[in-house]
Amino acid sequence: MRLRLAQNVQSSRPLMDFSGLGLSQPVLRALDAAGYQSPTPIQAMAIPHVISGRDLFGCAQTGTGKTAAFALPILHRLDALPRPNGKPASSAPRALVLTPTRELAAQIGASFEAYGRHTSLRYAVMFGGVGIQRQIQTLARGVDVVIATPGRLLDLMQQRAISLADVRVFVLDEADRMLDMGFVNDVMRIARSVPKTRQTLLFSATLPDTIRSLAQSLLNSPVHVAVDAVSSAAETLDQSVYFVDKADKRSLLAWVLQDLQIDRTLAFTRTKHGADRVVEFLQKRGFTAAALHGNKSQNARERALDSFKSGKLRVLVATDIAARGIDIEQLSHVINFEVPNTPESYVHRIGRSGRAGSSGAALSFCDAEERPYLRSIERLIRMQIRVVGEHPHVPAQKSDSDRAPRENRQPPQHAGARRNGGGGGHSGGGPRRQQPRRDDHLQSAAHAPRDGGAAVQQLQAASARGAERPVKPGFSSPSGRRGRAFAR
Ligand code: AMP
Repeated sequence: MRLRLAQNVQSSRPLMDFSGLGLSQPVLRALDAAGYQSPTPIQAMAIPHVISGRDLFGCAQTGTGKTAAFALPILHRLDALPRPNGKPASSAPRALVLTPTRELAAQIGASFEAYGRHTSLRYAVMFGGVGIQRQIQTLARGVDVVIATPGRLLDLMQQRAISLADVRVFVLDEADRMLDMGFVNDVMRIARSVPKTRQTLLFSATLPDTIRSLAQSLLNSPVHVAVDAVSSAAETLDQSVYFVDKADKRSLLAWVLQDLQIDRTLAFTRTKHGADRVVEFLQKRGFTAAALHGNKSQNARERALDSFKSGKLRVLVATDIAARGIDIEQLSHVINFEVPNTPESYVHRIGRSGRAGSSGAALSFCDAEERPYLRSIERLIRMQIRVVGEHPHVPAQKSDSDRAPRENRQPPQHAGARRNGGGGGHSGGGPRRQQPRRDDHLQSAAHAPRDGGAAVQQLQAASARGAERPVKPGFSSPSGRRGRAFAR
């Protein structure tokens, strides 16, 4: 099934050009150099409000251009604002961006670097898993914007290497993911250290109750901006499911990869160990593959990502957390080697494919135990995912009779991404789209005091219940490896 590319960066129709948003000349020049011609919907909606100083609650997922939606107006504002008491840049940044993973932090840092190249502002990226000393030195040289993961930021605060006393703009990026990863207490501690008189911008791809509570406690009369509900990514992709026994999944993967259309694939496993096993198997079968997960050193992760981006690797096998937010252009396929047990993760995963205007395909390998997960996903995205019934590893039992009539099943070549948008429409056995979900919540503005105690308690309790995959806060065990912190 192929529906229109909904809120994708390149498919969004130019609403206006960037100059209509009130951005300053240095920022506009950088956008010109980046080749951006028109703002994406989230940018067009958010930037004027952020420039005017309003708090903002943005519902948008990665791939919509949300980083620039907050980075551009922050650069615009800070460039025009004199530093407090005319002091030079110090270890007290004026904008703080909190983000869940180091990959995302590095990407946001690179965005600030690119968009702010014609300003005199200084940026630094701080995340765990690398030596802290270089980061401390970077801060001591003076920064205007810090982009950090929560755990490492707290370490730096404890060591008094950073002061949040001058923060005027506080951004929580991928807030739902931060809570999923068990960062709720860290986030709240950091929020309490930021001055109450500030601008707060909160971005989340999904809107569970925990996020609504977080927004209530941290935002002050925010403007709400949403680009499509969480199910939007589902509209841009060709999705299919292969029923298969667990033991046959690796062979099925090798078979699927023989389809030449599958050139660059991100495959997801639930565990790090599982990712390693799949990579080992693929390498034995002659495929170029590498794993991306939290047990790998920062260097190994960067090497794997670079090789994948440059086309040297055909398959990157990742866990959800490691893959979060990585920006790989022209990714043709996402393969759910294991079906995620939370439906939002499915949407996040498939959001990696079909980005920046290219179409994509998402294949899911579903064993008997994963059927309930598949049903939850279909409920969330309000579609039935097309079943591929013709493959060499169909389980012995007639297992998918409840899902799709025989004539609806597609041969494997249809699993490939249709790059030119061909084959569109609702013909054949494509998933049936139900009524799009409305986020009624977004129609009304929340008016709540910051740091409301009851809301926080509710949030912590809900987050503890809902934590999908708690990990140690901050991935922040320092090691002797070289940092990627930078400042201009
Ligand atoms: P994000 O959702 O922030 O991860 O952005 C997704 C991708 O879109 C990134 O590679 C950005 O460089 C790119 N991008 C963001 N805004 C624009 C724009 N206005 N025009 C073209 N590309 C953009």
